[in-house]
Amino acid sequence: MSDCLFCRIRDGEIPGDMVYESDSVLAFNDINPQAPTHVLIIPREHIATLNDLESAHRELVGEMQLVAQQIARERGHADAGYRTVFNCNAAAGQTVFHVHLHLLGGRNLGWPPG
Ligand code: AMP
Ligand code: ZN
Repeated sequence: MSDCLFCRIRDGEIPGDMVYESDSVLAFNDINPQAPTHVLIIPREHIATLNDLESAHRELVGEMQLVAQQIARERGHADAGYRTVFNCNAAAGQTVFHVHLHLLGGRNLGWPPG
């Protein structure tokens, strides 16, 4: 059994509130939402951090951004605006070491982020 939380959600060992699934990517609602829409888009493949991405992941990362775009559009955020974020390692506050793209929308998002 994997000790990675998001691998366990991928494998159905822990429930995830799924919003999208493809052969290579999953998306589910964040358990502690920071905005009306807060969805996490993850690769099925376990990749710990952005630092571990390789050129072979080029298409995968593109798909993750396109999934975020699609969900944002479906939820009516495309025109008002939304944000996608990858946190990498401690200084950025990464807590789950399986690459994930945050999609945040449905409220005004401050800049710079904390
Ligand atoms: P990060 O701080 O960028 O690593 O983000 C990890 C995110 O995972 C946080 O926003 C958490 O709220 C979220 N999270 C933690 N556990 C779960 C879970 N079981 N299901 C969904 N999201 C989770
Ligand atoms: Zn994992």
